Amino acid sequence: MQSSPLGNAVALKSQLDILTEAAGDAVFRLDANGIILSASTRALILISAINVISGHFLTEFVPEPDRAALAATIAQTLQSRQPAQIKVHIHTDAGVFWFELQLLAYLNPQLEPEMLVIGHDISLQKASEERLRHISTHDALTGLPNRSLASDRLQAAIMEAHRDASGFTLMVLDLDGFKKVNDALGYTAGDALLCIAAQRLHAVLHPGDMLARTDGNQFAVMLPNLVAPAEIYSLARSMISALQRPFEIQDRLLYVSASVGAACYPQHGETEAQLLAHAETALYCAKETGKARCIIYDQEKFNRPPHDVTLEAAMFEAVKNGEFLLHYQPIVDANTRQIVGFEALMRWQHPELGLVPPVRFIPMAENNGLINLLGAWALKTACIQIRQFEKAARRPLYVAVNVSPRQFRNDLFLQRLDDALDLSGLDGSQLLLEITEGILMSDPELAENLLTSIRARGVRIAIDDFGTGYSSLAYLKRFPISVLKIDRAFIKDVLTSPKDAAICSAIISLASHLNLSTVAEGVETRQQLDFIAAQGCGLIQGFYTGRPLDPATAIDLLQAQA
Ligand code: C2E
Ligand code: MG
Ligand code: MG
Repeated sequence: MQSSPLGNAVALKSQLDILTEAAGDAVFRLDANGIILSASTRALILISAINVISGHFLTEFVPEPDRAALAATIAQTLQSRQPAQIKVHIHTDAGVFWFELQLLAYLNPQLEPEMLVIGHDISLQKASEERLRHISTHDALTGLPNRSLASDRLQAAIMEAHRDASGFTLMVLDLDGFKKVNDALGYTAGDALLCIAAQRLHAVLHPGDMLARTDGNQFAVMLPNLVAPAEIYSLARSMISALQRPFEIQDRLLYVSASVGAACYPQHGETEAQLLAHAETALYCAKETGKARCIIYDQEKFNRPPHDVTLEAAMFEAVKNGEFLLHYQPIVDANTRQIVGFEALMRWQHPELGLVPPVRFIPMAENNGLINLLGAWALKTACIQIRQFEKAARRPLYVAVNVSPRQFRNDLFLQRLDDALDLSGLDGSQLLLEITEGILMSDPELAENLLTSIRARGVRIAIDDFGTGYSSLAYLKRFPISVLKIDRAFIKDVLTSPKDAAICSAIISLASHLNLSTVAEGVETRQQLDFIAAQGCGLIQGFYTGRPLDPATAIDLLQAQA
């Protein structure tokens, strides 16, 4: 057909019309401007504007963005006389159809350029392609975009935000307690719960937000813009509350909750992999520190340099090679300025990297379980060390040791605590265990039992980084806690920020009413110390009164002060 001589185009047109009609195709004859001169019956029926179709541009029936592409192809075909093909939508009174158009330019008997456009209806083929595409990009259960589509949208959002120098927010949400539902009531109940959960999440989001189901009980939410942390927390709270409402399934009321991690483009990652990894790190942290909460990725807190995988592998060797050590930071009486105790802070003396700080290896050890070994070692070493410090100081001192969530929940924890006290001969009252608020919130019953057993040994418990975690004050009443450590975040600007000052004095007053002592962490200046002491905070720990020291230096200091 394309190789037919173009001179007898009119005859060709009528033959072609018969053939194409038989094939159900629509044929248009256009002049050199792309205006319709005549059209086949199928084309007339299709566009159903029998009286007006002639004299119109073919492009008028094609909506944007296809219109511009078609106009360009018509012009190009007329000029080059090379046949061309293009797929377009055609708008008709009966609806919108997909057509594959063959364009064929020729000279008419008056030697004027004309063109035949043969349109083959591919709507059915397109619809089934679309159905297949939908199936492969959507979750069959909830109808939400699946992981693959979420990934495409994330990549598109990155490109758009990069182009516009803007940003967006990615949140990942994981259902807490979902496994229990699945285990107890089977997959049908689990599936029903997921469908309702998807609807509830959808209801709290805004029209432009993307909600996807990315894994069994994991969802992703992409907000098209960068929003303030307060808004992220507020949206997360709405999502969590929506999921905490009871689910009525199989005549039973079921309860779940959710944890959320968030990361923003570009500040928390510039690639899809980085953003996902960071949102998931934050999610993991939200789960570990109490669940039913949202954490936004924090570069400083979670910073994992690229060679961390190697670092993690090296860690197992390091345990065997004894590369871990403890430094001791003085804790000082705010009034007398005398050292009353030390906090043991772990360090890793890496053969090539030098002294690795705990923020880089404690989260890894918590992840891979090594924390149990390391924590037990730290507890024992610190108890032994403090006895030597006491000799140098010639007075009793106490030692504070950090305990991570996984270590605390380990069955052997109490056993290891007893071993450390027995081996060192340290009195329980000279040991302070520092835990975080999350430990108490994730499993309050277990925490209550354990803390009671710990207290029974005379050992005291401190809440570390107080005020930064899950802010439920009810636990101060429920658990046998002795010390609150005010987080450095509040001390840092205590002199310039009236809000931070108010928070510090409120914590100190709260603690004093509950008969708890307070330690101000991160005191770096004389003025901060004076302010905090004036508020009634009894103990100070910070660079101003002493940096973490290796044991030999600490002993020299104590001897000099003795
Ligand atoms: P933390 O328990 O809150 O310890 C206090 C951190 O604040 C220490 O950081 C200390 O060096 C730092 N610091 C103290 N005073 C100041 C100050 O005036 N200014 C500033 N900028 N920083 C100050 P470090 O040693 O890097 O430890 C970080 C965190 O790692 C600890 O926070 C604790 O959560 C964890 N960690 C350390 N040792 C252990 C351990 O043996 N076991 C566990 N589970 N965690 C540990
Ligand atoms: Mg601590
Ligand atoms: Mg702290």
